[in-house]
Amino acid sequence: MALTSAQQDGPEHNRSGQEHRTSTTEQGRFCVARCTCGWRGPARRARSQARTDAETHEAAG
Ligand SMILES: [Zn+2]
Repeated sequence: MALTSAQQDGPEHNRSGQEHRTSTTEQGRFCVARCTCGWRGPARRARSQARTDAETHEAAG
């Protein structure tokens, strides 16, 4: 039995043309991550946290 047929040919690195470009904006004392797809993260006290939200969203696609 041939058990090695795991050839990974995947040109679909980025499926769907939706591009996710995130940025963070300050709202009063809070910082919010937002994306070009319309996504919006929760209000965070720390900008670094908002950036993490943005990165998580981008990674999740
Ligand atoms: Zn997005």
